Amino acid sequence: MSTNASIKAFQESQEFIPGGVNSPVRAFKSVGGTPLFISEGEGAYLKDIDGNKYVDFVQSWGPLIFGHRDESIEAAVIEAVQHGLSFGAPTVAETELAKLVVSFFDSIDKVRFVSSGTEAVMSAIRLARGFRGRDDIVKFIGCYHGHSDALLVEAGSGAATFGNPSSPGVPEDFTKHTLLAEYNNIESVKKCFADSKNIACVIIEPIAGNMGLIPADKEFLHELRKLCDANDTLLIFDEVMSGFRGSINGAESITGVTPDIVTLGKVIGGGMPVGAFGARAEIMAQLSPNGPVYQAGTLSGNPVAMAAGYAALTKLKQNARVMSVLEARAKRLLSGMQEAAEKEGIVMQIDVRGSMFGFFFNENPVKNFADATKSDAELFAKFHAGMLAEGFYFACSLYETGFISTATTDEMVEQTIDAASRVFKAIKNA
Ligand SMILES: *Cc1c(COP(=O)(O)O)cnc(C)c1O
Repeated sequence: MSTNASIKAFQESQEFIPGGVNSPVRAFKSVGGTPLFISEGEGAYLKDIDGNKYVDFVQSWGPLIFGHRDESIEAAVIEAVQHGLSFGAPTVAETELAKLVVSFFDSIDKVRFVSSGTEAVMSAIRLARGFRGRDDIVKFIGCYHGHSDALLVEAGSGAATFGNPSSPGVPEDFTKHTLLAEYNNIESVKKCFADSKNIACVIIEPIAGNMGLIPADKEFLHELRKLCDANDTLLIFDEVMSGFRGSINGAESITGVTPDIVTLGKVIGGGMPVGAFGARAEIMAQLSPNGPVYQAGTLSGNPVAMAAGYAALTKLKQNARVMSVLEARAKRLLSGMQEAAEKEGIVMQIDVRGSMFGFFFNENPVKNFADATKSDAELFAKFHAGMLAEGFYFACSLYETGFISTATTDEMVEQTIDAASRVFKAIKNA
């Protein structure tokens, strides 16, 4: 397998783009080697510019639940493009997508669209602070909520990969209102509430996907809800990744815990840049132009992105059982890989939520970021390189989540497991 064209493209991109990429994790830094430059996607497959083909378990980091070039999404986008790219004025398409989103989430009466998950979370935090009239927020170590200043603290994922939990360029003054708690540890949240009477909101990924896949324990989320209620603090579920991935109707539908605000992204745009935040009417009424909390965007709700999102969510609505099919497939993939690892004496922790999957080369169960960091990064890098050479494209960091799409067949799952067997064997015999 030659990757000469990618190597060359990467050399050139580094001359004009910092690190050669427009989002750091894409650079393959934590696994070594050169990132593959992609020429096209088709269903479950990615093709690189050397002509190699891979089964894609990254899917643009989550959005493509129907795989690449889904016919109905593609048709909707082309149709929208032919009417104009953007108007900066209301369109019916926005209301249609909003209606659809509201229909999926019990906790959401109204929703506002933005152009990224980062924007959605940043705006949701402002809304929570404005609604409560308080400044402090609580976030969990290892949860990622986009790259805005106040949230770039112990932020998992790309940040974790590079060992920069917080970044230069973020003034200390901007993060002094961000209190940190440990995931799945309610005592650490109680400590935050003991330390501050000024907490506007607690934000959490109810199914954490940016320190590897670590779902929150149900009891933990119930306790968290109680603590928030007792302190008049809003609870924000950041479902930018898990929304329409962990479950069709949000983490609230599988945990029984209702958040005050939900943030969405990734799948909601069907592959186009869309983010959203929604809440009950009373909270959303605080937003400009109805209320005093300002938030805006030139390309927010633009018609092409709305069309893609509407096509994707309509398809999910019409195939409500799709999530259980994907979940079964993901479970087979992970248990198959785990078995293959065990045969070579490698211990693998696995987890699946809907179409999301995660694994750690770790002797012990992983419940929080500290546990995740004890995983074998070197083994992960070898596994990643081996699978890539076999034609299987996994996320290039152990702190990322994997995704199954409707285009990923049972046969591909079995092929992946067979390849994993060979890779584990080669690693052991090396
Ligand atoms: C991806 C992600 C974000 C940021 O979304 P962008 O579209 O990359 O800005 C925020 N929160 C979570 C949970 C995410 O997974």
